[in-house]
Amino acid sequence: MKKNIHFTVALLFTGIVFFSCNNSNNSSNTSQEKTSSASNNNIPDFKGDSAYSYVEKQVAFGPRIPNTDAHEKCAEWMASKLKSFTPNVEVQETVVTGYDGSKLKCKNIIATFFPENKNRIAIFSHWDTRPWADEDTAKNFHSKAFDGANDGPSGVGVILEIARLLKDTKPGIGVTLVLLDVEDYGVSGDENSYCLGTQYWANHFDKSSGIPQYGILLDMVGAPNSRFMFESVSVRYARPVLEKVWKEASILGYKNYFIPSETGGITDDHVFINNITQIPTIDIIDYDAMRTGGFGYYWHTHFDDMKVVDRGVLKAVGQTLVDVIFKENKL
Ligand SMILES: [Zn+2]
Repeated sequence: MKKNIHFTVALLFTGIVFFSCNNSNNSSNTSQEKTSSASNNNIPDFKGDSAYSYVEKQVAFGPRIPNTDAHEKCAEWMASKLKSFTPNVEVQETVVTGYDGSKLKCKNIIATFFPENKNRIAIFSHWDTRPWADEDTAKNFHSKAFDGANDGPSGVGVILEIARLLKDTKPGIGVTLVLLDVEDYGVSGDENSYCLGTQYWANHFDKSSGIPQYGILLDMVGAPNSRFMFESVSVRYARPVLEKVWKEASILGYKNYFIPSETGGITDDHVFINNITQIPTIDIIDYDAMRTGGFGYYWHTHFDDMKVVDRGVLKAVGQTLVDVIFKENKL
């Protein structure tokens, strides 16, 4: 993803930010994972170490750029990992057309937990890697692929750890986990060129286990000093969901990351999910319109590697989601 939304006629929101890269902010991966603050004994303990290992594994395949071997192999690994947690895994395969006419193999991977429970929520993350580091200050690096550790894998790592927990502990609701493909093969000026896998999922998803009552998108959720704010598209479509999640984060002591202040809007998978499916969906994303560049300094640059993934931040996001899931008894 994704340029900030300059809210245009098509998308009807507000929020314009101009981007520049700021690579001066590097910080080390030193923060310690908090011990679990889940207060309820029935709520499983989200392991930041485990989520981190899932992020590492994805990155080890190499950049997961559509039509590459790394992309193919990572998809196989994610599907098999999910299958080890639930038998209800679907690989939704298609071919989408990129902005440049390229035909791109696309695999959305969907795990449905407790399909008998029609009261359900959905959690999303994209898993593909952007083919270009076009925000890198070094222009000769623009065409060189980058690891893409936070942009994609961090959200997937959190989702896989949630899947591991759901294997052994059943909440009061159903949970659908969706790994979305071909999110980041877009160009500025054409917002619809982003989120191609999501657009396909939104138009074709299996409703036999019920339509999720709400959705939570994760994107760049592992960086130290992350700032997760009330992104304006999420506010417009799903403010009660934002309030619920940020309140839970506050209870758990994660207010330093989850900041309940409104910020600008961005084009991300949730835009298409909200518009196409009407499932009210928020975006948890490291984004603050008031910060230089809006996104973290690593965004779409060669700084986006394992050094910008922090176990403690994965834990903060993951435990917050686990608590939200396990406190929902009905929807
Ligand atoms: Zn991106």
